[in-house]
Amino acid sequence: MPELPEVENTVRDLKPLLVGRRVLDVRILWPRLVHGKSPEAFAVELTGRQIVNTDRRGKYLLFPLDNGCTWVVHLRMTGQLHVVPAQAEVERYVHAVLDLDNGQQLRYRDARKFGRFYLVDEPESVIGKLGPEPLSESFTPLELFNRLQGRRTAIKTLLLDQRVVAGLGNIYADEALFRAGIDPRRPAGTLTQADCNRLHTAIRQTLATAIREGGSSLGGSALTNYRRPTGVQGSFQRRHQVYHLAGHPCPVCGAPIERIKLGQRSTHFCPRCQLYEPLGAESS
Ligand SMILES: [Zn+2]
Repeated sequence: MPELPEVENTVRDLKPLLVGRRVLDVRILWPRLVHGKSPEAFAVELTGRQIVNTDRRGKYLLFPLDNGCTWVVHLRMTGQLHVVPAQAEVERYVHAVLDLDNGQQLRYRDARKFGRFYLVDEPESVIGKLGPEPLSESFTPLELFNRLQGRRTAIKTLLLDQRVVAGLGNIYADEALFRAGIDPRRPAGTLTQADCNRLHTAIRQTLATAIREGGSSLGGSALTNYRRPTGVQGSFQRRHQVYHLAGHPCPVCGAPIERIKLGQRSTHFCPRCQLYEPLGAESS
């Protein structure tokens, strides 16, 4: 699933291709893509508008328009946005086509069809409940610590909760916890400030490196979860240390990486480097 680094790369790639462009026509080929209004109303309201910026919040893409409204996109599992010449052959799984005023088309492709479009007056109506941006200055180790206080939920599960911190998904939660040496099953409220300092650093470093590497692309060609608008794939998957590497030796200690289910999500970790032994006081 595209997470913060993949969405960030998509936003950056789309900026020079979309900012200043006017939308001449909109065709929604999968009606359930549009949320909050009918696909017909969505198409009518977006037609004729100029895209004034491309932005991101958590895993959401934001396209502010010249009339003050915002087109919001969530790629979910396999959504991709590509800009191609209008005459280019239409690929499988294209569910929305926007004609732009320069002979190009913005096409939305989504093999699994879980993606979502919104067209709203106020983006807060969609993204208002999101937690802090993990790469922003307002996200501090103390902020992370405070958000975990009193929580018995496994730390991995809480990291996936977009209200705690925005933008992490299964890949980067597993990778960050490995880099911080924290057991994904550990009750979040048992993390000390020192643990949170390490986790905060690990989250930031993992995300920043993944952004630089163009994100992670996983899966076969047609069903690749993520491909940049320029058509190229990310390369951070080559730097994964635990994600989808069950049975492989841990890059630090050599123990086999384990895969378990946690909150119904597959979770990958090193049982030795991420060992958690509760203190006597906590287990009594
Ligand atoms: Zn290890």
